[in-house]
Amino acid sequence: MIQAKTDIRKLSLDQLKSWLAERGEAGFRAKQIHEWLWKKSARSFAEMTSLSVPLRELMDQHFAINALTTDNQQHSNDGTVKSAFRLHDAHLVEGVLIPATDRMTACVSSQVGCSLSCTFCATGYMDRKRNLDAGEIYDQVVEIARQAERKFQAPLTNIVYMGMGEPLLNYANVMQSIEHITSPLGLGMSPKRITVSTAGIAKMIKKLGDDEVRFRLALSLHAANDEKRNRIMPINESNSLDNLAEALNHFYKKTGNRITFEYIVFNNFNDSLDDAKELWEFTKRVPARVNIIEYNPIAEADFRNTEADKLDRFAGFLENRGVTVSVRRSRGKDIDAACGQLANKG
Ligand code: SF4
Repeated sequence: MIQAKTDIRKLSLDQLKSWLAERGEAGFRAKQIHEWLWKKSARSFAEMTSLSVPLRELMDQHFAINALTTDNQQHSNDGTVKSAFRLHDAHLVEGVLIPATDRMTACVSSQVGCSLSCTFCATGYMDRKRNLDAGEIYDQVVEIARQAERKFQAPLTNIVYMGMGEPLLNYANVMQSIEHITSPLGLGMSPKRITVSTAGIAKMIKKLGDDEVRFRLALSLHAANDEKRNRIMPINESNSLDNLAEALNHFYKKTGNRITFEYIVFNNFNDSLDDAKELWEFTKRVPARVNIIEYNPIAEADFRNTEADKLDRFAGFLENRGVTVSVRRSRGKDIDAACGQLANKG
């Protein structure tokens, strides 16, 4: 059997230096190659024109660059662009460009499918096939940044890890992708512009605190009541709200970084004033702002978006009690914008 070549982007700068030294190449070449791979997002060794042809050929014999390609795209009337990206092993993942007046946000995936089976989420109905590596996450950001430049002549300003998969169950690769995104040798973006969104893995939230990360954290909360949350997010059975509150406070103490609760309002499920009161109580336990999000219904589940007046009442209840609340209108309603809908068609 022919062995697949290793993706050169899996090598660190030091590993690249050693590989070059073993072949009698100068150490400074490593930085040049690294720059081609990350800062310039080269998709082939032939593009690396500052290197000698024999070195490019040598690398080509030993390594691959497993770049992703855009398989399918949907453009919404509100400017949202949803892309299905094809990975080198034929799997599909999704990334979304969300334009707004003051920002250009990329929403990226961290896994092919997801193991957490949240009942309102299209990805939750797929099996988790594998983790994405750092290069595959990084490539989504680069592709979406190019879309922003092409379509809106504007740079990407924000990144959210809120696409397919649970980022904290792919911890090492997610962290590595953020290192490259924030490094001056990569995209040089501020970590404050990056938000990792988790369904709530208490142990890994604590680890983020211990690792003193500089990016933001969001918890997909959707119910501040264990019984209700268990019904829509099975991960809550082993990561209860008590566990999460403890882990989030640890994270906050260690990093001082802002925490956001994401709360999708489902009609007649979690949109009453009692639900708002529970959420308010939970914000007293964990210092967090709240993003209230409209729901994009999916074929697999019966959930519906709440009504406008109930949403206003819910948000108003929290605001009147001093909670910082943003209401995020649903984007890309005219396309398959709910996470997992587009890749599932592949
Ligand atoms: S909401 Fe997130 S964690 Fe839950 S199934 Fe969907 S992708 Fe996985």
